[in-house]
Amino acid sequence: MAYSSRSVTWKGTEREEQELRAAVERHCACGPPDGPAMLCTAHEILIADQATLDRLVFARRIADRLRREEGLPIDRRGRRAS
Ligand SMILES: [Zn+2]
Repeated sequence: MAYSSRSVTWKGTEREEQELRAAVERHCACGPPDGPAMLCTAHEILIADQATLDRLVFARRIADRLRREEGLPIDRRGRRAS
């Protein structure tokens, strides 16, 4: 999915953005290339929902912090457990 216009600003790290984009691509439900143009909800969030993106950054970081405090591994796909 190409992002021709963006009305949002990613407030996380570059790595967090890459991981979010990879997750969105894994779960993308955009319309078929040869069918009517249809953007899935995940891609709509990436290009137009600043509040949800901000909450995703916050939730991800608080979850990581809580896991570290509890001594639990961070086992998100593409990340090393610590
Ligand atoms: Zn999509």
